[in-house]
Amino acid sequence: MPSIPCPQCKTNIEFNVHDIFSEKHFTCLNCNVNISLSYQENKDILKNAHEQLEALKDELDID
Ligand SMILES: [Zn+2]
Repeated sequence: MPSIPCPQCKTNIEFNVHDIFSEKHFTCLNCNVNISLSYQENKDILKNAHEQLEALKDELDID
């Protein structure tokens, strides 16, 4: 499961990819800060994950 560090306390907060596309909001269990996991705000994280996946596919020579 992917996770993002809390912007306030750096605790890792796990999330489902589906939750991003539904623009769900999360609360950090450690410091109770509210975090918006929208695709627009996190597309860099998702883009990075996608690029890593593509690189892995190239390495394994999978179509
Ligand atoms: Zn926190």
